[in-house]
Amino acid sequence: MKRKEFYIKKQKRRKKITLIVCAILVLGIGAFAISKAFSSSDDKIVANAKSDDTKKENNTEQKPKVIGPNDIIPGDNIIKSAESYAVPANIVYKMIFSKEVVKQPKSVFLTFDDGPSENTDELLNILKNEGVHATFFVLGSQLENSDKNRERLKREIDEGNAIANHSYSHNYKILYPGNSVNPSKFMEEFNKTNKLMQDVLGTDFDSKVVRMPGGYISRKYYKDPHLKELDKDFKENNIVSIDWDAETGDATGRNYTVQQMVNNVSAYAKSEKHMVLLMHDAAAKKQTVKALPAIIKYLKGQGYEFKVISNAKPEDKNTTASNNESNSNASNPEQKATTAE
Ligand SMILES: [Zn+2]
Repeated sequence: MKRKEFYIKKQKRRKKITLIVCAILVLGIGAFAISKAFSSSDDKIVANAKSDDTKKENNTEQKPKVIGPNDIIPGDNIIKSAESYAVPANIVYKMIFSKEVVKQPKSVFLTFDDGPSENTDELLNILKNEGVHATFFVLGSQLENSDKNRERLKREIDEGNAIANHSYSHNYKILYPGNSVNPSKFMEEFNKTNKLMQDVLGTDFDSKVVRMPGGYISRKYYKDPHLKELDKDFKENNIVSIDWDAETGDATGRNYTVQQMVNNVSAYAKSEKHMVLLMHDAAAKKQTVKALPAIIKYLKGQGYEFKVISNAKPEDKNTTASNNESNSNASNPEQKATTAE
């Protein structure tokens, strides 16, 4: 009997211990769960507070900047009011050099290379009087150490013209040693020139339009082995190279009369619906200044709209279309750009 009692007591004690252990376990798990829940909600509060901070920061950054008609469009090479007659360089390239049909009116792009120079003021006066605009392919070397040329650059953009890059030195021996482009040197000059332009126009200005001295076409003509490398640099930086498909002849060194220059342009106008017209803004090109009013009047008479070349933009399907309409500009640029620029 005693033994039986002892056995029962032992069993009861075991049950008690089991119950206590279970209770401790349940309490322990409960406490852990509760603390976990609190700590994760703390994390959430911290995270929410952080995202509020980020929102606040973003809000101050995102204050819309009002761009007036005379302000440079941030990241572009024109002022706001020039947008209405500007065509992005990627579209200009198609208009002039590709077989693709581009929905654009009969257009001419007046382009002036090698400036600014002592002729710039007169060229700008003529453009203003005629109510048309041009694209200036500027040399960095012309801006350095010349306050007058820097003022001319400012006037060019302020009066609604586009500004593009034509290298710093224009020196073939530096840019094309052994008649082959040095891509890193070319990009170095491109960036140096852009920086010099930004020093005058502010950092909102950024030109991604380039014309290589002598033309991209001459690099192709010479089957330049480094051209692909330069193409890659251009593509990575959204830079578009624009040559020309018409010229006044002012690069030839022949002393054309005003009428001869107009005749040169009219020869292109007979076949070109879209023209990028090469001219020069260098001190020696006085005849270009003389001929410009007559050239503009002639082109107006032929129904051309005057446009400028802005930085490349993502393509709008409405501006390009592939159909069967023949494009008079669809021939190979190598057959056109023949003058050493
Ligand atoms: Zn040039």
